[in-house]
Amino acid sequence: MPQLASEELRGQKRPGLTRRKRETRQEKIARANAIARHLAQAYPGAECPLTHKNTFELLVAVILSAQCTDAAVNKVTPELFRRFPTPDALRQAAITDIETLIRTLGLFRAKAKSLRRCAQQLVDECNGEVPATMVELTHLAGVGRKTANVILGHAFNKPGIAVDTHCKRLSRRLGLTRQQDPAKIEHDLARLLAPEEWTGFSHRLILHGRAVCHARKPACQTCAFRELCPSREEILDYD
Ligand code: SF4
Repeated sequence: MPQLASEELRGQKRPGLTRRKRETRQEKIARANAIARHLAQAYPGAECPLTHKNTFELLVAVILSAQCTDAAVNKVTPELFRRFPTPDALRQAAITDIETLIRTLGLFRAKAKSLRRCAQQLVDECNGEVPATMVELTHLAGVGRKTANVILGHAFNKPGIAVDTHCKRLSRRLGLTRQQDPAKIEHDLARLLAPEEWTGFSHRLILHGRAVCHARKPACQTCAFRELCPSREEILDYD
C-alpha cells in the first residue's frame, strides 16, 4: 500500500536533513557582507579581464563576451581595435570584415551586426562617446543590463551589479535571492550590499563561479566561505 507508506512518512524528518531557522533580514545582510569580505580576500583585484585601452574598446569587448570566454575575446580584439579604433570607423566597416575578425567567437554574425549598429548609434546619438547612464547604455544595440553594469562599474566608477550565469547561480546557491530574472537578482543583491560593494561583489562572484562553484560540480571543500553557504554539500543545480 504505497499511499499509506507515504502518509506514514509525512511529518517525519528525512534522514540527514534538519530544519533551519528562517534567516532574518539583518542576518542575511550580515552574511552577504561577510561573503563579500571573503571574496575580496580570495580575489583582491577586481579589474576587468577584457583587454581594452578606452571605454569604447571596453564596450566592444563586453558585447563580444556574451557566451564566450574572456580569453577568446582577448584574442580577437587587438586586430579588431587596430582596424576599427573608433565608433566612426566601426560604423563604416563592411559587415563581412567584422565577421571575419570575430568568427572564432560564438554568435559572431549577430555580434557583428550589433557592433556596427551600436557604433552607428554612438555616432548619431551620443557624439561618438560611450554614454554613462543605464538608460542610454541599454538603448544601444547588443547592450543589456549586464553589459551596461560592467561599463558603468569599470569605465565610470558607478556602482553596478552585473548578473551573468555565474552571478545568478551563486547568488541563488548562497541564498541571497530566490529570483530567476537577472534584473530581480540585481535588485535583491543591491538591497543587501552597499553601492560601493556592487561592482566588486558581482565581478568576484563570477570569478568564484568559474574557479570553484562550478555549475555541475561545485568544489565546496575548497570554498573559502562554505560555512556561510546554505547549499554546501547538498548541491543543487538551479540552472
Ligand atoms: S559552498 Fe559550494 S555551493 Fe556554496 S558557494 Fe561555495 S562552492 Fe558554491
